[in-house]
Amino acid sequence: MHDIHIIGGGLAGSEAAWQLANKGFRVRLSEMRGSGTMTPAHQTEGLAELVCSNSFRSDDAQNNAVGLLHQEMRDLGSLIMAEGDRHKVPAGSALAVDRDGFSDGVTAALTAHPNIEIVRERVDRLPEAGLTIIATGPLTAPGLAESIGIATGKDQLAFFDAIAPIVHRESIDMETAWFQSRWNKVGPGGTGKDYINCPMTKEQYLAFHAALLAGEKTEFREWENVPYFEGCMPVEVMAERGVDTLRFGPMKGVGLDDPRTGRWPYAVVQLRQDNASGTLWNMVGFQTKLKYADQVALFRTIPGLEKAEFARLGGLHRNTFIKSPELLDGELRLRSAPHIRFAGQITGCEGYVESSAIGLLAGRFAAAELAGETLAPPPREMALGALLSHITGEAEAETYQPMNVNFGLFPPIPGKTKKADRKQMYTGRAREAMQGWMAQSSLSPAS
Ligand SMILES: Cc1cc2nc3c(=O)[nH]c(=O)nc-3n(C[C@H](O)[C@H](O)[C@H](O)COP(=O)(O)OP(=O)(O)OC[C@H]3O[C@@H](n4cnc5c(N)ncnc54)[C@H](O)[C@@H]3O)c2cc1C
Repeated sequence: MHDIHIIGGGLAGSEAAWQLANKGFRVRLSEMRGSGTMTPAHQTEGLAELVCSNSFRSDDAQNNAVGLLHQEMRDLGSLIMAEGDRHKVPAGSALAVDRDGFSDGVTAALTAHPNIEIVRERVDRLPEAGLTIIATGPLTAPGLAESIGIATGKDQLAFFDAIAPIVHRESIDMETAWFQSRWNKVGPGGTGKDYINCPMTKEQYLAFHAALLAGEKTEFREWENVPYFEGCMPVEVMAERGVDTLRFGPMKGVGLDDPRTGRWPYAVVQLRQDNASGTLWNMVGFQTKLKYADQVALFRTIPGLEKAEFARLGGLHRNTFIKSPELLDGELRLRSAPHIRFAGQITGCEGYVESSAIGLLAGRFAAAELAGETLAPPPREMALGALLSHITGEAEAETYQPMNVNFGLFPPIPGKTKKADRKQMYTGRAREAMQGWMAQSSLSPAS
């Protein structure tokens, strides 16, 4: 017998299970991978698999909203952050992780927990009774998605989302490419030489841009006219916005000194380490819907990648989420069926860290409910509170879009302040608010 059923063993479901189990509640965690059903993006049966980049983004808790969210989650005993920290790889001031080590660590921790039963099964209908958390993510299997659509009375929404290619390190020509972080930035765990940079001259860049536009793309008629995630936009879609869009975006050369010329290149392709052993590197910002043959041909025109061997090519996938501001209450419960909570990306937050954070909150809210208590939502001054209130109330339901955590979701800092100071005012205020919330709610990582 279990106290709560969690459906989906991704980032959010794993975190929610951990939070509940540590409070002494028995969890049934249903995950369809391992039972014969995969999603279009996952490649393993591991829990909390990272489907695209291996980065949890900035780890700077003083100046960055997602770095602050990392810290708040650590303070609440997050399994995802603990395993992320345990399996980090160098990435400047970002927190990037060895994806296999990370997923294996989460799987092992949940498997070993006496209060968690992991069941490899696909769930095709919303349970009619019993406390439940739906954490099936942006690639929720169609049967359950349909059941959610029926229960909510809303049409599910579908998006494109894109994956960047991964290159074998040994196939990169380091006579042309070089190691350097932009501005030699040495962040937590970084060396100032965390990225591989492939430089382009103006002529090379213009030819590359033209070929990108001309390359054959995969067409998905059923999803035509559906907007992209801004943070995961295909490189060719960016290229269509103008000849310089990429050169001022992911391909910008500023702060990178080509050792062969002593100058910043006109444009650059950066690769970031993708596994702990440093054998795999992903092309930063190169999510794409180009056909595979065109990807290989085009990416091998990049200086340094002429002989690139690809561990994985880019691709496109669906993204499903509900209109949370209308459908969910402040504790992530479905208003029309309050025994059901939603967590993770299906609520319309965006990103690994945000999905995990909403899993953490769903777990804590459910644990309080099971204990016959009420947990006050975290204040909006906190990163967790800002994200939660975006999902459950602040955003317009009609125009609701997936959203990364950012200072724009926080209550504004009153008065005029310098931009640089403002970030620290947000994070300082958040830390104070968190202390107050934890004291008021008698919360601690262990309690
Ligand atoms: C292609 C793609 C690329 C992305 N790239 C990034 C990125 O680079 N960086 C980033 O920060 N975010 C990225 N995201 C967004 C998002 O942060 C991740 O998808 C994240 O994994 C969401 O966490 P989650 O727990 O909500 O869902 P998931 O991690 O996807 O977990 C959901 C789990 O539920 C399972 N499941 C689904 N349906 C059922 C069912 N009916 N029964 C049982 N189990 C089921 C799935 O197998 C999966 O394990 C990407 C999303 C997609 C789709």
